[in-house]
Amino acid sequence: MNASELTQQIKAVRQRADALENHANTSPLPSSEILHDSLEELNTALEELRVAEEEVRQQNEELRNIRYALDVERQRYKELFDFAPDAYLVTNTEGKILEANRTATTLFKISQKYIQGKLLINFVPENQRRAFRSQLISLQQIKQIQDWEIPMLTREQTEFDAAISVTTMCDREGNPQGWCWLIRDITTRKQAEEQLQAIRNENLQLQEATRLKSQFLAVMSHELRTPMNAILGFSQLLLRHPYNQFPTQARSMVERILSSARRLLALIEDILDFSKLEAGRLELNLEEFNLAELVTTTVQELYCLAQQKNLTINVDINLKEPQIINDSDRVRQILVNLLSNAIKFTDIGNVNVEVLEIQDRVMLIIKDTGIGISEADLKNIFQEFRQVNQCLTRKHGGTGLGLAIVDQLVRLMKGSVTVESKLAEGSTFRVELPRVVHSNH
Ligand code: ADP
Repeated sequence: MNASELTQQIKAVRQRADALENHANTSPLPSSEILHDSLEELNTALEELRVAEEEVRQQNEELRNIRYALDVERQRYKELFDFAPDAYLVTNTEGKILEANRTATTLFKISQKYIQGKLLINFVPENQRRAFRSQLISLQQIKQIQDWEIPMLTREQTEFDAAISVTTMCDREGNPQGWCWLIRDITTRKQAEEQLQAIRNENLQLQEATRLKSQFLAVMSHELRTPMNAILGFSQLLLRHPYNQFPTQARSMVERILSSARRLLALIEDILDFSKLEAGRLELNLEEFNLAELVTTTVQELYCLAQQKNLTINVDINLKEPQIINDSDRVRQILVNLLSNAIKFTDIGNVNVEVLEIQDRVMLIIKDTGIGISEADLKNIFQEFRQVNQCLTRKHGGTGLGLAIVDQLVRLMKGSVTVESKLAEGSTFRVELPRVVHSNH
């Protein structure tokens, strides 16, 4: 029952009482009878009013419960607002702050008491205020702004980068009543972004430097190759002369020129290969060939190197299907690099070469009993110009390009190379290659 229904009911009872009084004044009946009728009528009216009162009381109770639930809800939202990890502000449409949560007061370094009533624009640096104002104007139309990045100020005038999201609060008719602001301090994110950008720029510069280096290496090695081939050719020509036309000393000198020129040429070839690989300009000459034969002949070619050091080379080829498609010169180069390292860095024991097949892939395993590589050095071993022990390497010779070339070639062939090693125990290099390599261009 609502208030107007109750008023209606009271009005009806009053009308009935008035009617009774009228009746008593005009009725010819004895007064006891009239009294009796009136009492009866009054009783009925009282009962009706009691029922109405009960209903009103019940409704009151319900209203109280609803109000209580509303209070609880409001309190909960207030706590959420207050303890939210982001700064929340409520302003009127002029931008005057009406409410601020704790994070907001911490962010702007100002107490609750002083933030309320201030204009939000006070926390915007002067050079940004024009932009801020025009955003406020545009808010009238667009009603909402997401992640608007703008510098802001604390009360102590320290600037920080903020990301702001604003929503408009409207009344029932849809007229803007104020704005709800979510303000996030993104200074750390911005700094991280700037650092990332700086790293990206540095990377670009490094890439450019690497490109220039490769280009320089390519040009230089190409230029060196021509005179080196001339030295090789002419010294070979000299050595072809009959023995008696050449004093022994001169002959040994030419032999030394020839072997040095060969070493230099190999080195130049390595540099050229590496620069081509790095620049992605090396093409594989794909053909079908017998891997077992290639491994056997390559090992034979290096056999005398091992013999000079009293090392044995064991070869174990387990291939049901030895035909593969790849660039045979480049596979040979991989094998030569790994095998000559194994011989170079082993003084006692042996070098084992194993070839096997795993489904559609073949694997070359080169294992030695040499000086080994420490765990710390293993990580960088495939990087160009990396040599574990410069003094040792000087003793053994080498450029530090062999493994880098192996790594790059294997990648080009869509294979992989791994190494396991222990100091003073030896190293095992495993090269896994697809049985059929496809062209990279
Ligand atoms: P280089 O042999 O010309 O120095 P590599 O790239 O072939 O260059 O090898 C890089 C370094 O890795 C070598 O200087 C050596 O320190 C180490 N290394 C390579 N293979 C072996 C091996 N089988 N045993 C021990 N150390 C090795």
